Amino acid sequence: MDNSRATDWERPLYVSIYPLLAAGNNNAGSLRFVQQLKPRTFKPVEQYFVRELKRYGKNLEQPVVITLHSVVQSQPPVLENAAGRLAVGIWSLKMRYWAWRAAGSVEGVAGDVRIFVSYHPAGGQDLLERSTALRKGYIGLVNARASRSSNAKNNIIIVHELLHTLGASDKYNLSSGQPLVPQGLADPQRKPLYPQKVAEIMAAQIPLSSSRWRSPANIGQTMVGSETAAEVGFLYD
Ligand SMILES: [Zn+2]
Repeated sequence: MDNSRATDWERPLYVSIYPLLAAGNNNAGSLRFVQQLKPRTFKPVEQYFVRELKRYGKNLEQPVVITLHSVVQSQPPVLENAAGRLAVGIWSLKMRYWAWRAAGSVEGVAGDVRIFVSYHPAGGQDLLERSTALRKGYIGLVNARASRSSNAKNNIIIVHELLHTLGASDKYNLSSGQPLVPQGLADPQRKPLYPQKVAEIMAAQIPLSSSRWRSPANIGQTMVGSETAAEVGFLYD
């Protein structure tokens, strides 16, 4: 494992998922939800990597192996919305320290990548924008919704942040949310270009026109585009 990537996709990438309740979430339903999470909830994430690597000519039985750990009881450091460079740097150091302690506080050996899934109460809007990942340290922080009906959408954010830890960049306009052309399009060759049928995973939205888009319902409605594939080593021989 070097600094540039966690995997050459020659051996399985081990991904640890650590659920936790979001700060201030005292909801009894959320608590029940996180305590009853099952590994199968995250199976689609494993299957996604099998499918997408296959499209890029890599036939691997299990490229990603997910372990679900028990609920973490502490809270990650808070990153303010308007944080400048220095504040982000300090936050990422704190985050790496917190991740190390939090992963050590529950059973099981941490994988190559640690994804902390912070569950907010059910309902309300998607939380992709507030999710984040640190490439250094291979740590993802996913903001998710604590309901079974949100599992499919939560898995989109998990894949998105996991790919960030492996070096993938965002492929949407950070202020408007519009997927970038061509790298944010799952099928940049499509004629006519719009509407696209699925989302590029790092754009995370399905573009309907040059100014409109909609959210995919599950990772089945997303693909790894060629630029992302190059960034995360899908194209290495
Ligand atoms: Zn992102």
